[in-house]
Amino acid sequence: MIPALREVDEVQALYLQFLQALADAGFRGDITPSYANRMVLATDNSIYQVLPQAVVYPRDNRDLQLLARLADREDFHSVVLSPRGGGTGTNGQSLSDGLVVDISRHMNQILEINVEQRWVRVQAGVVKDQLNAALKHHDLFFAPELSTSNRATIGGMINTDASGQGSCVYGKTRDHVLELHTVLIGGELWQSSCIDEARLREISGGDKRSAKVHKTCDEIARQKADLIEQKFPKLNRCLTGYDLAHIRENGCFNLNSVLCGSEGTLGFVAEAKLNLLPIPECVALVNLKYDHFRDALRDAKHLMDAGPMSIETVDSKVLQLAMEDIVWHSVSGFFPTEDRPVKGINLVEYAADSEEELESALARFTTQIGEVIGQPGKSFGYSIARGHAEVNRIWAMRKRAVGLLGNAPGEKRPIPFVEDTAVPPEQLADFIAEFRAILDEAGLDYGMFGHVDAGVLHVRPAIDMKDPQQAAHIRPITDRVVALTQKYQGLLWGEHGKGVRSEYAPEFFGELYPELQKIKAAFDPRNQLNPGKIATPDDSTNLLKIDAVAIRGEYDRQIPAQVWEGYSEGVHCNGNGACFNWNPDDAMCPSYKATRNRIHSPKGRASLMREWLRLLSGHDVNAIASARKYRERSFFVGLPKRIVNSLAKMRGEYDFNHEVNEAMQGCLACKSCVGQCPIKVDVPEFRSKFLELYYSRYLRPLRDYAVAGLEFLMPQLAKLPQLYNWPLQLKPVTALMESAFGMVDSPRLSQVTLKARVRELGVPTASKACLEALGPTQCSRAVIIVQDAFTSYFDAKVVSDILRLLKHLDFVPLLAPYRANGKPLHVYGFLRQFQRVAQGNSEMLNNLAARGIPLVGIDPSMTLTYRSEYKKLLGERAPKVQLLQEWLAEQQDHLAQQRERVRPGSFQLLPHCTEQTIATASLKDWQTVFSALGLELQTENLGCCGMAGTYGHEAVHKETSRVIFQQSWAAKLSHGEGNQLATGYSCRCQANRFAGVSLRHPLQGLLAQLKN
Ligand SMILES: Cc1cc2nc3c(=O)[nH]c(=O)nc-3n(C[C@H](O)[C@H](O)[C@H](O)COP(=O)(O)OP(=O)(O)OC[C@H]3O[C@@H](n4cnc5c(N)ncnc54)[C@H](O)[C@@H]3O)c2cc1C
Ligand code: SF4
Ligand code: SF4
Repeated sequence: MIPALREVDEVQALYLQFLQALADAGFRGDITPSYANRMVLATDNSIYQVLPQAVVYPRDNRDLQLLARLADREDFHSVVLSPRGGGTGTNGQSLSDGLVVDISRHMNQILEINVEQRWVRVQAGVVKDQLNAALKHHDLFFAPELSTSNRATIGGMINTDASGQGSCVYGKTRDHVLELHTVLIGGELWQSSCIDEARLREISGGDKRSAKVHKTCDEIARQKADLIEQKFPKLNRCLTGYDLAHIRENGCFNLNSVLCGSEGTLGFVAEAKLNLLPIPECVALVNLKYDHFRDALRDAKHLMDAGPMSIETVDSKVLQLAMEDIVWHSVSGFFPTEDRPVKGINLVEYAADSEEELESALARFTTQIGEVIGQPGKSFGYSIARGHAEVNRIWAMRKRAVGLLGNAPGEKRPIPFVEDTAVPPEQLADFIAEFRAILDEAGLDYGMFGHVDAGVLHVRPAIDMKDPQQAAHIRPITDRVVALTQKYQGLLWGEHGKGVRSEYAPEFFGELYPELQKIKAAFDPRNQLNPGKIATPDDSTNLLKIDAVAIRGEYDRQIPAQVWEGYSEGVHCNGNGACFNWNPDDAMCPSYKATRNRIHSPKGRASLMREWLRLLSGHDVNAIASARKYRERSFFVGLPKRIVNSLAKMRGEYDFNHEVNEAMQGCLACKSCVGQCPIKVDVPEFRSKFLELYYSRYLRPLRDYAVAGLEFLMPQLAKLPQLYNWPLQLKPVTALMESAFGMVDSPRLSQVTLKARVRELGVPTASKACLEALGPTQCSRAVIIVQDAFTSYFDAKVVSDILRLLKHLDFVPLLAPYRANGKPLHVYGFLRQFQRVAQGNSEMLNNLAARGIPLVGIDPSMTLTYRSEYKKLLGERAPKVQLLQEWLAEQQDHLAQQRERVRPGSFQLLPHCTEQTIATASLKDWQTVFSALGLELQTENLGCCGMAGTYGHEAVHKETSRVIFQQSWAAKLSHGEGNQLATGYSCRCQANRFAGVSLRHPLQGLLAQLKN
């Protein structure tokens, strides 16, 4: 039995008083001092881990003003506030041991779009892709680009002055900021934009904080003009943070140049008015392949002469990571690698307002490269992607590359600390050669890619930060890279901002640094706003130091190696935030999207898991050994203790186990994280391990037993479906189901059983004797359909329609005997029982497959269990069960011969989220199958339907399930048209429940197209 975990770091009394004062003053947002919330916000994508005192989620500008006003009160002068957006910083930018002010949860509205004047007004928590999705209808876009565009907020972009691919043409975020609404310490809401000298004098004359900051910045800009000119480098990626070099531009004074890149150290950006650009009509990307990364880098210099919009270089390591990722299937056609290995790539982008213009630019470019192609040091081949759809697919792959760089097998993980240097582009190749020498000398492995047009290099050396000796590399390597960037007149902070690396600012700025301190002092005299970054208000306090802030590795090394390895599916989360994906039509984490609560995200759950393992280790409890012991025990051993503990839980006694449990209970076990997280964090896997141990201490709800046992009861219940279905119509029974078992809207058993349908169809049950009786021709057309409880018993018609279709198409279908698959057992953490079921089921399926006849499952989620949960448990002994479309796509020649028998038609596929993310390539298989039969099939981009097995039927989750459904599926369903097809039982069920739409399975769609 695991112990109660009560000894967590407590919130300081001052902060509790501050939070109370905040609530008393009418703060309308959320106040969360829970340990779980604090823990989840203790990390970003950096190596650091800093536990905040609490997290608050302001609802509006007034809430921000309240915070800033309270912080100005004398009794709260030592309270520290750190704004937070998406939390995707790579250098601890948003980490704080004070109060985190997360602006992203509520303040995320697009307030006004002015198409004619091409500007937009947004709240700071709007995500960059969210904004561009809204602007797309107007053929406009917000130009500054960054790899984290699907989760980074506008507030975060402004505060790091973000930029990325295309920056040579589009510049940085600052270049597109027209106006900012910033809450200053004391509570003043200041609106800053480009102003003339008269207005500057007027503002500076007042006695408010806004007056002081204008006066201070103006004086410094005037008095130190020469020094500013000398210190701020003339790079495309010019210096971020208190950018005095651009405070006077185009004849006006603009405080926004100081605010942009200030990393939350000067105020809370609440709203922004942003400049928009028209989306280029026509785009193309030339993808050049090289034998060496250094060739790609050196060649980029010449390619730039041809005037493309942007050039990005990718090395073989990054390319290899992309090839192993789900993203690859969408771009592989552009990078054929069979003939010659590709060790470097240049992605060269062109944009134009007309096809003619674009084609003539491309013709000029391809002629230029054609003259040297294949020569030493030059590209040996290229492909061209044309149009927004194709180009965006390749950029999406490139964007994922930064995240993928964080993934590597083993304990040495690529980490950011010198990951975004910038030097003059013409020096980049030489700079990289020296950079490589530093890393090679230290014996570090790394992958690289860069915005070569801007001279920016991305590199993440692989280090095991749990090992103090390896962690000790951080200081000397950073020092040497800083010196190297100085040698090349470049910057350590070329793209991702300063954060903890602000330590190098005083040395870099020299005698200008005290002026930066004056700016900080004017805005924030007591160093309350995100202290330790960019500048301190005076010399009485220090900037953070790269090796003096607590690192994650220090905590991680407290977890024993065996436990760390046993939970490897969760512990390597590096906080890159890809699971905070904004797009509702993307499957990534429905529980986060529906709740906007970060504990209900893969990162949240992984962070809590790490902390849980660490706290258990502090009690000398090894989670792996405890699970082993627990599995050997009878249910009744420890039952009285579990009852006592559960009574304590009911009395509200604190135990961190409950906080972790809450986060795990919110998970739908949809597995989207497994496919989409660049680090392949697998929440359902560690969630079930946690639940197993949690319920070694506490009593399980009856619901768990009911759901986990359903697969086993089905065959008996299905004998008399009416007897099961009838009571479910009665109110007292549904009320009892809800109160006793926590289940709602229970599905009804199929009235006509599968057994009866199969008998009518004459489909045999696959048995040894039956399989042996098949002749060679029959054998070559035979397929064994593996049953699952949901389709076979609740949707029997789908199974029989599939069998009917297969027969019509001259296949020889057989039905595997029904056996529980065990997925519900796994989901609910009955791991001992799952082990037994999986072993028995595998044995049966492997015996059936012995003659080489393919095993094929119907429901995507249940079928994919064989290649994930079964595989983890049984390795190669796990049965190979294909998805229907995977097997049918292999039969495409045979299908093509049947085309004459099929009426033409077009369909829309609504895929299951697990299928989309775990078996992404299989979506193309559906298209292959349909097109082999002469039918059109278009695949929709969709999020999760919200059902995920039984999650949607659990009373506590019904409303979240509905919200998830509304976010993506509801809008995609075309009522009344029968051409929409859904692969998942859950999805069909949910569409029926919440929208009254009956969807067919894709093979039912095909069956209906058969002539006669
Ligand atoms: C895999 C990966 C790839 C990346 N690629 C790029 C890239 O291509 N280009 C690039 O520029 N960056 C990149 N970054 C860095 C990061 O995504 C950017 O810095 C981004 O702009 C941060 O936005 P955010 O919303 O996550 O902000 P956060 O990380 O939450 O905050 C960043 C800083 O802004 C402050 N802040 C946030 N919101 C506000 C507000 N409303 N008011 C005041 N201060 C605020 C915070 O205090 C913090 O100092 C990458 C990061 C990762 C993990
Ligand atoms: S769970 Fe995956 S996607 Fe989410 S922050 Fe961790 S590593 Fe990134
Ligand atoms: S399984 Fe689904 S709901 Fe659970 S953490 Fe992963 S993506 Fe989120």
